[in-house]
Amino acid sequence: METFNIKGLKITLNKQGSPYYLKASYPICFGKFTEIETENYIFRFNLNNRIKSIQGKKEAVGEQFKLNCAADWIYYCAAGYKGVYSFLGEYYLPCLGYAKNPLFDIYRYDTKLFKKFFRAFLKLVERLEYIVAQVNTLNGINQILKAIITVNNSIAIKKKTEEFYNITSGGVTVLPPDCRHVDYDVIPLNISYGCLYNCGFCSVKKGIQFKNRSITNILYDIKRLKSFYAEDIANYNSLFLGEHDALNAKSKIIIETAKAAYNQFGFQHSHIKNPMLFLFGSADSLINAKNELFNALNSLPFYTYINIGMESADNKTFKLLQKPLVYRKIKAAFEKMLFINAKYTNIEITANFVMGDTLSDEHYQSIIDLSKTTGKFFHGKGAFYISPLEKSGTPSSYVQKKFLWLKNSCAMPTYIYLIQPL
Ligand code: SF4
Repeated sequence: METFNIKGLKITLNKQGSPYYLKASYPICFGKFTEIETENYIFRFNLNNRIKSIQGKKEAVGEQFKLNCAADWIYYCAAGYKGVYSFLGEYYLPCLGYAKNPLFDIYRYDTKLFKKFFRAFLKLVERLEYIVAQVNTLNGINQILKAIITVNNSIAIKKKTEEFYNITSGGVTVLPPDCRHVDYDVIPLNISYGCLYNCGFCSVKKGIQFKNRSITNILYDIKRLKSFYAEDIANYNSLFLGEHDALNAKSKIIIETAKAAYNQFGFQHSHIKNPMLFLFGSADSLINAKNELFNALNSLPFYTYINIGMESADNKTFKLLQKPLVYRKIKAAFEKMLFINAKYTNIEITANFVMGDTLSDEHYQSIIDLSKTTGKFFHGKGAFYISPLEKSGTPSSYVQKKFLWLKNSCAMPTYIYLIQPL
């Protein structure tokens, strides 16, 4: 780590952030990065010299804007540290470019604040251009400043984003809620496309039938992703196997892909420790998954989270949601979830449910009743995630009240999940 003070800027190269993902009530950066501090802001750049976050020193103190690899800015809102943790299990509310945040609509993605922060960033780039042209700075730092100027121009960002969308077949419409444990910093890799049910209510589906991908195509994508992430791959330690029901893919493909990605992405040398693997599953894929798959997953160098889309445990609600499932299957899937969580130290299965003011009391009661059938298998692992239905327009006051009642009534750790794409 080296620090330079040039023309009012404090520039630190190779700054080491936290080597572990932590939940903290203050802005925290993970892995290694370049940091440039001005009078009012702290700008951080990844190992490809691309902007990764902007933190305010005098305004929105304690909060930051973060740019993800799909070029979406996310506002990490502290909401005064009043209650976000009870809802999300995190200290920050991630506000994406949604017009409305279903949980705290007063804390939505704030265009005015963002514009101010972004203008400050453009001003910083101008200052760097001046410094590079006028000041006889040390060789190493000059090179990095020039790279920051080049990599962050709008054409370069657009080109890189297109590359990401190309590799991921149009981006990731939703990440599993468990990705919150690595701040959603996952490398996405599709081992299958589509899902089993194509439910009527779902706004993240691509509307295609479940389809396995060949290992040849997957290995090709690993190569492309490695080149896309380039130097900054050293700041990643986690993998998301897509798309909406990777648990339904062939076991051999799941395991071979996880091993190949771990080696090719160099997760063993990552600046961030404790690698994690994330995938979605369905009630059917969980019920059908064989012990051999869980044995193999458990012995991978990852801690694996599998998130199962259950949505309800009430037959009438399934009809309303146009999801072809019944209570009997949900109960079998939930029992298997508890069994796997108790048996395997490196695997944790969680479940998703939906909420909205158009859903019945029976729906909510069914989630509570299901949580209470934990029996002998509850071992402090697993969680319930509750997602507000996107198109329902449910008021945030309803979401907050209903969720807190559910959280207090369920015999499982329960959190809100707000859909996060990549
Ligand atoms: S809820 Fe899950 S299974 Fe249903 S359409 Fe959406 S992604 Fe597919």
